[in-house]
Amino acid sequence: MDQQQTSSESNKVDGSTGELLVPSVADATVTRGKSPEEIHPLARTLEEWVEVFRGMGEKPFRAKQVYRWLHQDRVFDPDQMTNLSKALREKLKKAGVAAPGQVANVHESADGTRKILIDFVHGAKIECVMIPMSPDIGVDDYDEEEEDSPKKRVTLCISTQFGCAMGCVFCASGQSGLFRGLGAAEVVFQVLVARDYLRPGEELKNLVFMGMGEPLHHYEETERSLRLIARPEGIGMSPRRVTVSTVGLVPGIRRLGRDFDGKVGLAVSLHATNDAVRSEIMPMNKRYPIAELMKVLHEYPLPPRKRLTIEYTLIKGKNDSLEDADALARLLRSLRVKVNLIPMNPIEKSNLEAPEPKQVLAFRERLAAAGISCFVRMRKGDDVSAACGQLALQSIDPQRLTRRSPRS
Ligand code: SF4
Repeated sequence: MDQQQTSSESNKVDGSTGELLVPSVADATVTRGKSPEEIHPLARTLEEWVEVFRGMGEKPFRAKQVYRWLHQDRVFDPDQMTNLSKALREKLKKAGVAAPGQVANVHESADGTRKILIDFVHGAKIECVMIPMSPDIGVDDYDEEEEDSPKKRVTLCISTQFGCAMGCVFCASGQSGLFRGLGAAEVVFQVLVARDYLRPGEELKNLVFMGMGEPLHHYEETERSLRLIARPEGIGMSPRRVTVSTVGLVPGIRRLGRDFDGKVGLAVSLHATNDAVRSEIMPMNKRYPIAELMKVLHEYPLPPRKRLTIEYTLIKGKNDSLEDADALARLLRSLRVKVNLIPMNPIEKSNLEAPEPKQVLAFRERLAAAGISCFVRMRKGDDVSAACGQLALQSIDPQRLTRRSPRS
């Protein structure tokens, strides 16, 4: 087992400089630098499938058929791909078409929140959370271009890394350090699995990259996942239904805006209005301080009627005063934003607390009075530990974490 995977401390942002001490991702599931044949079948683009089939002497139209089996029907067993010839099914079996993981557990909260634990073949148990949205919870405005739909909307929160290197002090995932990033196949798989747990009358409306990990820390896998998820031959979820949440990695924000023309929603964890406090609770601020972050947010190519989301965790005595609210309003005045206020979720080994409800309300009112659109994010799924920052690491098998395979 190598040092990088055994020591979570060394896999965190350097608290004194904000520098990352490890490469963004180093594991068997990434796609970077691999040929189409080596990339996991679920992470292959349609174009890469065409190339793979060309190499097998098969017709290009087979690519769409297989892509649909994997991404629409979640069928990984070539024997069940009934519109393919027997010979091709055998070739796919030999090539190692298989699911990247399986569901290990599902917990359902009294409020309908479902937390799905997925056990990935190459080590890592990852949680994703399905959150039924209702008009009374005040955060349900990812859907700014409202459509008439009788269906009950569900938002899915997915993870992009196993652990997280960013070290935010209010977050359970951040305390463990980064073990590994997830490959695009593992990210897409979470969406496929969650669709199986929709109830009659529900639809998966929004997707948020807000679970464990920093999605822009291994940008290539996040970008690939977004493109795979958008593909009409597959899940077909438009980028405008997707929100990527970041701690504020400036180069990643710039790339995301450029690569998707600003169509992908962006949520930024701000959590403080001055560098001293922000660096204390979010070490990455030392590398990308607030002024630099604000500059890149001003440049983000937001489509008309879209807003950035600013996440602000309220921590008692740290960032929850009315002066903080005033400073936040000043900082955001010239941006098109909505602010999600999140009362701190208690985590183990931390003495940080949520403010009293009346302080949360006063903060919100102060911001609203300054003309800033803001919502208090009600906690959903508390009884299954599905709230923000509570997607803690599950037990891991180190042997599996270090396993390597060309088909991973
Ligand atoms: S809040 Fe997000 S970026 Fe910060 S440590 Fe937790 S998972 Fe990582």
